[in-house]
Amino acid sequence: MASMNVEPKLAISGVSKSYKTRSGVTPALNNFGLSVAKGEFVSIVGPSGCGKSTLLWSAAGLHSLDRGQILLDGEPITRPHPQVAMVFQEANLLPWQSLMKNVELPLRLQKAEPGPTRERIRGLLTRVGLQGFEDRFPRELSGGMQQRASIVRALSTNPSVLLMDEPFSALDPFTREDMALLLEEIWLETRKTVLFITHSISEAVFLSDRVVVMSGRPGQVRRIFDIDIPRPRPLSVMEEHGFIDIVAEIKAAIGRGTAAVHRVAEKA
Ligand code: ADP
Ligand code: MG
Repeated sequence: MASMNVEPKLAISGVSKSYKTRSGVTPALNNFGLSVAKGEFVSIVGPSGCGKSTLLWSAAGLHSLDRGQILLDGEPITRPHPQVAMVFQEANLLPWQSLMKNVELPLRLQKAEPGPTRERIRGLLTRVGLQGFEDRFPRELSGGMQQRASIVRALSTNPSVLLMDEPFSALDPFTREDMALLLEEIWLETRKTVLFITHSISEAVFLSDRVVVMSGRPGQVRRIFDIDIPRPRPLSVMEEHGFIDIVAEIKAAIGRGTAAVHRVAEKA
């Protein structure tokens, strides 16, 4: 984590955002603040509709804010930034383009950038086990493969910040665990700054340096948990007492899962 005198990679301060629709005003975020250090992996958890996606879209420069600011290396983010990439729940690959064309799309869109070579992308594809599938079309790939391709697409421009909005929520539980392991490996190798949204508390604890619990809408930071489990973390870490205890503590902080907390307490 950053020491006090190091500028954070992402500095989110006093962010408020409401949606104005014909049926009225929905406050989504209220005075949200969070600093993320360079190379840190931070997860955000909280009840549905508490403003998590709004926060990520704002950090991606896709929303205007009512108040507050989001700084990247000290500069306000006001529009999509080449150093910031996003991964969504759906892979959103273009169905009529090959895997290779899909993952190279951001490079084509950012043609001003010096851009890494095809070799770099091939390295990433190999890294996520997609080598040999470059000419396949999305419909020929499983959900997990499509989502791995969308991660390669996000990394293709070598961004310094990766924003991930429930990236594994549409996958089956086994694929989901594989993806968490893969993401941990990639993060250990690349040390991107990651802001990761999930509804799975154990996924958040497994992957993160810190887990941020948001309040209900309009979203604010309710509590931040430091996760001091050594890395690399094998999947079996999820069966350890320390892990189970912190998952229960986070669930309690969100305000649900208290039955699980009692069960853990009884077992202990
Ligand atoms: P989360 O990702 O935590 O589920 P969101 O950020 O998607 O929450 O949404 C926060 C609140 O803002 C919700 O009440 C949602 O209905 C509302 N909201 C989100 N996007 C829009 C929009 N484009 N227009 C109007 N209301 C929206
Ligand atoms: Mg959301």
